[in-house]
Amino acid sequence: MMSKWLGVGSLATVVLTGGLQLASAEVNIYSARTEALIKPLLDKFTVQTGIEVNLVSGGDDELISRLRIEGSKSRADLLITADAGRLHRAKALNLLGELHSELIDAKVPANLRDADGTWIGLTMRARPIFYRKSKVDPAQLSTYEALTDAQWAGRICIRSSSNIYNQSLIASLIASDGAAAAETFAKGLVANLAKPPAGGDTDQLKAAAAGVCDLAIANTYYFGRLVDSDSAEDRQVAEQLGVFWPNQADRGTHVNISGIALTRSAKNTAEAVALVEFMLTAEAQNWYSEVNSEYPIVSGVEPSATLAGLGAFKADALNLTLLGENNRAAVELMDRAGWK
Ligand code: FE
Repeated sequence: MMSKWLGVGSLATVVLTGGLQLASAEVNIYSARTEALIKPLLDKFTVQTGIEVNLVSGGDDELISRLRIEGSKSRADLLITADAGRLHRAKALNLLGELHSELIDAKVPANLRDADGTWIGLTMRARPIFYRKSKVDPAQLSTYEALTDAQWAGRICIRSSSNIYNQSLIASLIASDGAAAAETFAKGLVANLAKPPAGGDTDQLKAAAAGVCDLAIANTYYFGRLVDSDSAEDRQVAEQLGVFWPNQADRGTHVNISGIALTRSAKNTAEAVALVEFMLTAEAQNWYSEVNSEYPIVSGVEPSATLAGLGAFKADALNLTLLGENNRAAVELMDRAGWK
């Protein structure tokens, strides 16, 4: 009864002093994004709505630990982090609430958000195969599965299995091919590596351009950053590589998201929803595409010229909730496969 009265009371306050309420409205974000890749958008949101945004930046896993420690006392309303597998971890730790609005539900494709409504994708990235143009004819390439062919022995670069992007790639193979086939794939891939996994996705692309390997698996925005780099050296790396979209004849190329979730502790829910809706506007979607080569997830918003230059492709339509659900099995089989 009490809470009902409070509800009515605060509603009346909003009606009577609407302007003042808006001026003091705020939303608190824990974000794993580099500040340069979010702050300009948040500033625009504040100008447009009057809602103050308090940004706490940190590492992906660090922010999840912090939410866990703070529990219901956390000031965080929203968590921004990359990879459906990681968002699923936050969900499994019971750190997330449900994020819904008519607009959010209408704009975010069903496969790019949690089946239970706890997180949504904000932007999409693909994880295709990059090949060294001087050494590989793209006609030699077809699917992720075919990377285990003997012709690729000692010619593939990919980062470590501790990285969530690779865990999610394997989780997608478990979903499409089954656990046994995914393990056979992981073993075959490891057998064809040019060197033990080290470094991030950009390092794999640079290694391929330098001739350490002829194929590299990396997320599209890392390649986009090299294409758009101020450094001539970076641009040369990109020039030596071609992008190949695997599995176009079947399920499509593996994709993932950078996403956002409402925390279980959220107190500024209306403001949080307003911010999420802002991130789904064409303006914000365009901004991510231009600034960080991420694919818009809202239909009707075109990708940047750099991304368009990579060509159109068929994306795996798998519901990304499965990437989280298959994560543990993926990690275990990668370990058995000897993927460092
Ligand atoms: Fe990344």
